[in-house]
Amino acid sequence: MPGRLADKDRIFTNLYGLRDRGLEAAKTRGVWNGVAEMVAAGPDWIIAQIKASGLRGRGGGFSVGLKWSLMPAPDGVRPHYLVINADESEPGACKDRQFIGNDPQLLIEGAFLASYAIRAHTAYVYIRGECVAERERLEAAIAEARAARLIGENNLFGWDFELHVTHGGGAYVCGDETALLESLEGKKGQPRLKPPFPAMAGLYGDPTTVNNAESIAVVGTILRRGADWFAGIGRAGNAGTKLMAASGHVNQPCVVEEAMSIPMRQLIEDHFGGVRGGWGNLKAIIPGGASTPMIPAEQAETVLMDYDSLREVKSLMGTATMIVMDKSTDLVRAVARISQFFKHESCGQCTPCREGAGWMWRVMQRMAEGEAETAEIDLLLDVASRVEGHTICGLGDAAAWPIQGLFRHFRPEIEARIASYRAGRPHVQGARLEAAE
Ligand code: SF4
Repeated sequence: MPGRLADKDRIFTNLYGLRDRGLEAAKTRGVWNGVAEMVAAGPDWIIAQIKASGLRGRGGGFSVGLKWSLMPAPDGVRPHYLVINADESEPGACKDRQFIGNDPQLLIEGAFLASYAIRAHTAYVYIRGECVAERERLEAAIAEARAARLIGENNLFGWDFELHVTHGGGAYVCGDETALLESLEGKKGQPRLKPPFPAMAGLYGDPTTVNNAESIAVVGTILRRGADWFAGIGRAGNAGTKLMAASGHVNQPCVVEEAMSIPMRQLIEDHFGGVRGGWGNLKAIIPGGASTPMIPAEQAETVLMDYDSLREVKSLMGTATMIVMDKSTDLVRAVARISQFFKHESCGQCTPCREGAGWMWRVMQRMAEGEAETAEIDLLLDVASRVEGHTICGLGDAAAWPIQGLFRHFRPEIEARIASYRAGRPHVQGARLEAAE
């Protein structure tokens, strides 16, 4: 049975900023050790190691090594780029800023190694605009690494490499890899149709790999300690360590690094002080950022924090940043608020998302009060299924999934609310009722 991560296996050893974040201190924790040998082993060795480690993207779950291997061979004409996604704009998601601000050399080292593996001389970090302190710390750390000739032209490793930092302007959709590329090019952050995929035509039309910041930050340690070490943590298909977090109705909300596949209940009780009022007071959990479908307490009791276990209960691990909701939560109202967020963030390019997200939000608003027909539930689910999978980017799915998760597990509760409203007993916590007070 997967259990807790041993201290000796932690990658993020300064997650809370309790130690010096400077370059020399980072080196004493192991960062940048052995990089010359890794470079000497060659790009193909690095890609093979990352594949063998079983590292899956900490944003979407796709094999990181496989993604790198999809980059074309250098043709001497088109430059290659690495783009690191640290936009982290989903409600509930709050993990990358922790290590970017407190242990930035981990990300810089990983960016260098990943860029070398995909034959890129230039990489960009696209960080959420609101994370000003983290951006400034990262920029200072890059300057430190450049001064020490770890990166830049004619660096110690013989692979010229520049790392640039840019920040978003507040649009959630720029977390989509192609919208991010558009934004990076100085255009409006709207997702592109795929294909072509970024590996063929990415930044400025050139071959590009886009990776989540956490995926990049763990690369150096995996190469130092070996693919087998990383693959031995967690379980098959769900390897390694992972940053996980909880917000909402837990006693100690925070970010922790844990072994993949740790039971969700153990994670909450060991690290987050348990559910407010005890485990028996738990109602539902959104496992990995607001877009991932919620699961009820009974499933949270047994599910493991990994890609496959959460998929078995028709949810997703996403960023592994849970939103925990106890029995005091008005789940319908909570999902109506999430629907409002996705409606607001739709870029408007495709009809199912542009029109559907707003329509679903308006119906959810009425559902929150009970001011709806029971038959509208099936209509709402039908519309959600027509938005899901029929849009240019994942924001359409993100708008549909929270609603689908709510009705999958709590439909009787909403039907009772509608019946109560029709009987002249409106739900007291309804959003519009509150606004009218
Ligand atoms: Fe824009 Fe929504 Fe279409 Fe994505 S799904 S491209 S956010 S309209």
